[in-house]
Amino acid sequence: MSLSSNAIFPVFDGHNDVLLRMRGVKSGDPVQGFLDGETSGHIDLPRARAGGLAGGLCAIFVPPPTMRPDANGDFLAPAQADALNETMAMARLLFDLESRSEGGVSVCRSAADIRRAMAAGSFAAIFHIEGLEMVGPDLDALTVLHQAGLRSLGPVWSRPNIFAHGVPFRFPATPDFGPGLTDAGRALIGACNRLKIMVDLSHMNEKGFWDIAHLSHAPLVASHSNAHVLCPHSRNLTDRQLDAIGASGGLVGINFGVLFLREDGVKNPDTTLERIADHVVYVADRIGIDHVGFGSDFDGTMVPDALGDASGLPRLMDVLEKRGFDRDALEKIAHRNWIDVLERIWGA
Ligand SMILES: [Zn+2]
Repeated sequence: MSLSSNAIFPVFDGHNDVLLRMRGVKSGDPVQGFLDGETSGHIDLPRARAGGLAGGLCAIFVPPPTMRPDANGDFLAPAQADALNETMAMARLLFDLESRSEGGVSVCRSAADIRRAMAAGSFAAIFHIEGLEMVGPDLDALTVLHQAGLRSLGPVWSRPNIFAHGVPFRFPATPDFGPGLTDAGRALIGACNRLKIMVDLSHMNEKGFWDIAHLSHAPLVASHSNAHVLCPHSRNLTDRQLDAIGASGGLVGINFGVLFLREDGVKNPDTTLERIADHVVYVADRIGIDHVGFGSDFDGTMVPDALGDASGLPRLMDVLEKRGFDRDALEKIAHRNWIDVLERIWGA
C-alpha cells in the first residue's frame, strides 16, 4: 500500500499566481470564488484542501503593459505608479481572503505562523512580490510593504528594472543574458538582509544571480525554477547555480510548468508527472534532500494534465514515493524544507 493512500501529504509550495488570476476576474466576486471553489484555474480553497495544498508563497506580479513581447522577444516593465496601484489591489485581495475566510486562510509572517496555520487547517499564505517595479530607489515602499507583511520578493520578473535584469524566456538558452545588479539592486539586497525578507532568484539573469550569491548573507533560494541540464530553458538553473544554492543552505522549488520541465521545450500539457519527479530527483541527488521543494507556479503557467490542479498533488506524491523517497524525504520535499529555509532566513 502506498504511504500517500493513507494520508494526504501537506504541501507548502514556493510559488503561486492565484492573486493574479483573481485580479483578472472581471465579473463576480473573486474572493468568494476562491473560498467556495470554482471551475477555472489551479487553486481555490476546496481544491487546495482536497490535494493537501496547505499554503505557499502567493505572488503579487504586475504584468507588462502588454503580454505580447517586442520584436526581440522581451517584455516591458510597468511604470512605478501603475505597479504600486496594482500591488495595492492584489494585496487587498490577499487580506480580504484572510478576513473573509473565517479562519480558512492566514497571512503568515513567520515560520511559527506557518506551522500554526497548517496545524489548524488554515491555508498559510505568504505575501510575496515577483518583480519590484512598485518600489523606487529610495526603497520607501519596500519598508511600508514589509510592515504590511511582505516577507519575500523576487527583484525581477523576466524583464529589466532599476534593480536588475530578469532573464528573458528563451529555449534552448543559458540564463546568461544581460548585466548584473545595479547600484540600486545592491542596496536592495542589503535592505532585504536587514529586514529579513527572502530574496527569490527565480527569473534573475545569471550575472545578477552571482552578484546576489556574493552579496547576500542569507541562504539562496530559487522559488520556482528547474534543472537546466534536464530542460535547457533560460529560466532554469545550471549545475553551478544549483551547487551554490545547496552550499548556502538554500532551496530550489521545482516548477510544474511544462515549459520548464520538458527536454524538447514544447508547451504540451501531455507531460508526465515522472518528468516533475525527474527534476526533484536530480536536484536532491546533486545538492541534497534538504534543498529541494515545490514551486508549482499554479495559476501562472500550464501544468501537466496529469496533475490538473491543486487537487492532483497526491498523484505527484505517489509518483515520488515510487521513485524511492521514504516518508521523511517526502515530508521534506512537500513542506518541511520550505518552512525550515524560511526560518533560517526570517529567524525563529
Ligand atoms: Zn514566475
